[in-house]
Amino acid sequence: MLRFAGAGRSDVGLVRAGNEDSGYVGPYVLLVADGVGGAAAGEVASATAAHAVVATALTRLPAPPIEVLEAGAEAARRGIRYGVQRRLQQRLGMSTTLTTLVTDGRAVALGHVGDSRAYRWRDGTLARLSSDHTYVQQLVDRGQLAPKAAARHPWKHVVLRSLDGDPADPGIDLVTVEASAGDRFLLCSDGLTDLVDDGAVAGLLAAPDPEEAAEALIQAALAAGGRDNVTCVVADLVDGPRVTFAGQPLGALADPRNVVDPAAV
Ligand code: CA
Repeated sequence: MLRFAGAGRSDVGLVRAGNEDSGYVGPYVLLVADGVGGAAAGEVASATAAHAVVATALTRLPAPPIEVLEAGAEAARRGIRYGVQRRLQQRLGMSTTLTTLVTDGRAVALGHVGDSRAYRWRDGTLARLSSDHTYVQQLVDRGQLAPKAAARHPWKHVVLRSLDGDPADPGIDLVTVEASAGDRFLLCSDGLTDLVDDGAVAGLLAAPDPEEAAEALIQAALAAGGRDNVTCVVADLVDGPRVTFAGQPLGALADPRNVVDPAAV
């Protein structure tokens, strides 16, 4: 049976006052969420969405991973919506990215919305699995902007899609990922990829241990200025007996006060 074996780190960075990123690393679920919103609402958005997805996966696995992610994204949207309704003044407009990998032991699926990223690292080669839901990525996809120019574009932070609780939002992208034992995966917030390019990321992922790799990636973001919260989850896909589900929450998810109505899922 396939499962993830890895580690994650989340760091507030060198400039921001609080950490609005959430993350999770467990044998069957990996996740990064990057929240946005004033007055502690970003923390609430990312932690509530992360909790909803992880709790849904815990309940539903080993159901097919795409189904698990569909249900998890719906629970995340419901949780954020409820959180906004309870404190409209403070939380209206809060939203979060969500990038998550789930395995049922056979297949691996990716759920993704926003500008956090998922990568697969295989034999030293880095492949991006997710596409940024940003204005500049849209320009690149339409051939209106060179990929190299995207990283320096003044509007590179404009995110076109995220989870904000709107019942009409189109949901998250869901795909089955081509994966086999020995692959290494990285999920990260833009606090890494804004500051550290893919070539440097590929080099740092070569560390033998996922925990060392995650730490090295965080340190690289901090050395480059640490302008934003930064979260990295690094995990190898391994083949072995099923293990008891035990995972580690990261960043805002590590504080239960950030999760709106944890009993709802
Ligand atoms: Ca960010």
